[in-house]
Amino acid sequence: MTEPRAAPVALPPEAFRKAGHDLVDTIADFLASLPDRPVVPDASPEALRAVLGAEGGLPEGGTDASVVLRDAARLLMDHSLLNGHPRFFGYITASPAPIGMLGDLLAAAVNPNVGAWRLSPMASEIEGQAVRWIAELLGYPQGSEGLFVSGGNMANMVGFLAARAAAVPEIRTEGVEGAGGGRLRVYASEEAHTWLQKAADLGGLGTNAIRWIPTAPDQRLETRALRAALESDRAAGNRPLMVVGTAGTVSTGAVDPLFEIAALCREFGAWFHVDGAYGALAAAVPGTPRDLEAIALADSLAVDPHKWLYAPLEAGCVLVREPGRLAAAFSYSPAYYHFDQGPVNYMAMGPQNSRGFRGLKVWLALRQAGRAGYVQMLGDDIRLSRELHARVQAHPELEAVTQGLSINTFRFVPGGLDPEGDDAAGYLDRLNEALLERVQRSGEAFVSNAVVQGRYLLRACIVNFRTDASDVAALPEIVARLGREVDAELRGSRPLDR
Ligand SMILES: *Cc1c(COP(=O)(O)O)cnc(C)c1O
Repeated sequence: MTEPRAAPVALPPEAFRKAGHDLVDTIADFLASLPDRPVVPDASPEALRAVLGAEGGLPEGGTDASVVLRDAARLLMDHSLLNGHPRFFGYITASPAPIGMLGDLLAAAVNPNVGAWRLSPMASEIEGQAVRWIAELLGYPQGSEGLFVSGGNMANMVGFLAARAAAVPEIRTEGVEGAGGGRLRVYASEEAHTWLQKAADLGGLGTNAIRWIPTAPDQRLETRALRAALESDRAAGNRPLMVVGTAGTVSTGAVDPLFEIAALCREFGAWFHVDGAYGALAAAVPGTPRDLEAIALADSLAVDPHKWLYAPLEAGCVLVREPGRLAAAFSYSPAYYHFDQGPVNYMAMGPQNSRGFRGLKVWLALRQAGRAGYVQMLGDDIRLSRELHARVQAHPELEAVTQGLSINTFRFVPGGLDPEGDDAAGYLDRLNEALLERVQRSGEAFVSNAVVQGRYLLRACIVNFRTDASDVAALPEIVARLGREVDAELRGSRPLDR
């Protein structure tokens, strides 16, 4: 008779049930406690390493799974930046939907490899449906194709590589050296996200292939400058490969003039890519910029479910209008099948081989909330952002600068200081930079920053279904109170400096 194998990572069903139930209870308490916690604890890296015991080596023997899970939950819940907190207004990181947390557990339990249909029959179908639902929500054409990737950077890069392969198919075998016929150029506004540099670099074009187009005072790409750049490149024998239009810039939520960009792309034979990592989903919401409708014209589009679909990290999504374009950029087996027939093999449509089931958490939340639920939540985020703008405008010590989609920028201007006065600009930049740090360390709320027309500003972004009117009402007061403190300290130490 053989002994049953003893595997140290195994968890017998009863032990799994107990550890899992305990963890779910702990998470439910954690979620309920979010508003009462600091948004981020004010601790140094040294203090955190001490709490973790970071110097400890790999343990020789194991520890009971329940104990390890309990430890990990405490370490993470008490020492993290809580982007699910109702007063987290930083960057563009969503409050994660609880169903997505459970979805990741389920995905890991079944563990489908969504690289190939055969390895993940139902998961591949669910991913396909989730991608089609996102296209539908955005008004992107049915019959387009797409897949989930790690985030906006990868989604944009996949679009970039699809454009590259469409323009110069032989680039995949010969490299850019062998592409011949003039240098490939890409165009984007100065407010575009840094993914483009990484893509131009990794894609072999080099960052000098990017034409950075100036923006108007409203942070939107200047189409006259874009036309001029396209014309001068064409005259010089260079090849306009793609134009990137941003649907919701990171700094201010500006939406580029996408209809005009689409028309210029048609005129110059360039691929029209939309970076909608943050803002594309606002296309589903009434009363948002009309240019979002031009998303439907894009050859490719990046959108981040881990932003405005409230998916837990990571989930980015790339959509491409013409089926077969992704295989043309990534497949190493001939694209002999029709994409409407036969199963989809995602490894042939993107850079990854083995692929986790990112789509499940997105699909679950889309089903839980439905289209109407998402339109409501995004609309509420935008409404709250506009309300914040009005409150900042009404505050005597705050200067409201921009409000776009669900992003606000503003700064603290101490009473009695004329922001247009001599020497005021430098002082206000220093003051607001110090204030940002003070707000973040306070744990009362978390904002990030933006630089708009050379001014250092605080920035609040609401992609958070837990934020409500009371949080928005509290923020200007928190900022002004801490602003007065910082101003007094700066003036105390340098009395003549303002
Ligand atoms: C967030 C964002 C990105 C990068 O997305 P990640 O998910 O962080 O990789 C790119 N472009 C825009 C406009 C973004 O808002």
